[in-house]
Amino acid sequence: MRTTEHQGKLILARHGIPVPRGSLVGRAGDSLLGFPLMAKTQILEGGRGRRGGVRLVQTRAELAATVAAFRAGTSDLPPADDVLVEEVLDIEREHYLAIILDRERRSPLLVAHSRGGIEIESRDDRTFLARPLDIRADVDAGLIAAVHAHLGLEASLQPALGRLLANLWAMFRAEDCLLAEINPLVVTTSGRLVAADARVVLDDAAAFRHAGMPSNPDGTPFERAVAATGAVGTELEGDVAVVTSGAGLGMCTVDLVAAAGRSPGCLIDLGGLVFQGSQPIGAALECVSLLHPTTLFVNVFLQAARCDHLARGLLAAWPRVGSARTVVRLRGEMAPEAARILEGCEAFVTEDLLDALDMVSRTTSGLIE
Ligand code: GDP
Ligand code: MN
Repeated sequence: MRTTEHQGKLILARHGIPVPRGSLVGRAGDSLLGFPLMAKTQILEGGRGRRGGVRLVQTRAELAATVAAFRAGTSDLPPADDVLVEEVLDIEREHYLAIILDRERRSPLLVAHSRGGIEIESRDDRTFLARPLDIRADVDAGLIAAVHAHLGLEASLQPALGRLLANLWAMFRAEDCLLAEINPLVVTTSGRLVAADARVVLDDAAAFRHAGMPSNPDGTPFERAVAATGAVGTELEGDVAVVTSGAGLGMCTVDLVAAAGRSPGCLIDLGGLVFQGSQPIGAALECVSLLHPTTLFVNVFLQAARCDHLARGLLAAWPRVGSARTVVRLRGEMAPEAARILEGCEAFVTEDLLDALDMVSRTTSGLIE
């Protein structure tokens, strides 16, 4: 799981790594820090600096305008749930420091570059220092000296760098990190070493070991809404909403819809929801209304679960999804009852997949031909 910068910095700070003083702005857009300050949008993507997502703010009015822009999103930035404000650092130099997982070497790797910051991606691979880390060992003096030399730090910063590397490596292991990246690692004009940005990725498979691990639900608003019902939603680009049960049938149906000349706009895999009665099925089906599809294609083959439950779910969702042309192909347990229930709505219902696809291919935004 990716963390936001703020969540990442809380983890760094917990492990003794210096980060700027800062906090999230409250709902009213206020901050406890004095001005000037840095306002930073807390989206999960990088490259905020280049896109206007990191701004120096001088006044309350500027802060309010910046927070409003970050929350709403701009042409370059997606909307953010949170905005971080921090003390302004007097930056003398920006370095790059990270521990990554090198899957080829099957080892964590310490990576450093003397010139960090927003241009890091344009640096030649060969100019990075990269040293494998032994998962059973602490960082040693040799490694600290190598990083110190590579970054070109003054001698007086060696102890601070040593503590920082030791803490970062301890954090990486204790928190089950997949990535711990500090870019930029800043040297201030007063000679402090500070993590000005943080990107931390935690291993979801280890979540059970970390009570209170932050969670950032991935996905589009549609995908989150579907996930909340217990089904799995995938948003695509077209205008046919596809609902099935089982990932294999789902992929297959998406391909068949495309082969029929239509463009799938989403896939909802009801999965085990088909066993839980009509109410949750209806809730999952209602999510398609978020995407305004022109066609809804429900394709299920239920053997242990019951088609009539699915039909009642669709009937319940009908007031919200009924503006789409609806094609239902269902086979399996209680299919005749399901077909009778669906006489109550204007869906095209069949047991025959080819008939269903034929109808999907004919339904457009206008009338069924
Ligand atoms: P990213 O672009 O998403 O990685 O966001 P960063 O947090 O790395 O910020 C991008 C750039 O903004 C940094 O490389 C710095 O040059 C600049 N920046 C961030 N915080 C400060 C600050 O407190 N003071 C100053 N002067 N620059 C900052
Ligand atoms: Mn950065």
